[in-house]
Amino acid sequence: MKLIPTCYYCGVVKGPSPLKELKPGEDPPKEGVLDMVPCPGCEKLMADGILIIEVADGETDPVNPKRTGRRVVISEESAKQILDLKDVKNNRATYMEQQYFKLFYKVESKNEKDN
Ligand SMILES: [Zn+2]
Repeated sequence: MKLIPTCYYCGVVKGPSPLKELKPGEDPPKEGVLDMVPCPGCEKLMADGILIIEVADGETDPVNPKRTGRRVVISEESAKQILDLKDVKNNRATYMEQQYFKLFYKVESKNEKDN
């Protein structure tokens, strides 16, 4: 059973999709996270700052929570102050529930990148 590798951070499919190699009658592969390597888009965002990924309210799955698709990047300094992140050099991304992200997004949306 093949797995379509997806980005841990944003959930998009990474690399070529094995769907093209699918034989007639074969079950389509499932999507899943194989590693913690970010997709090129997330890698770029995480180079600029700390990536905050919005997830549905009540999500507690630390590996694959239901993402809403909205993301925002904040500076390392803001992440230390607002999110109380200690190790910003190694922790370049975090999940945030929609109820909190909504409040946060209004303040930070002017800094959001177009992608
Ligand atoms: Zn990604």
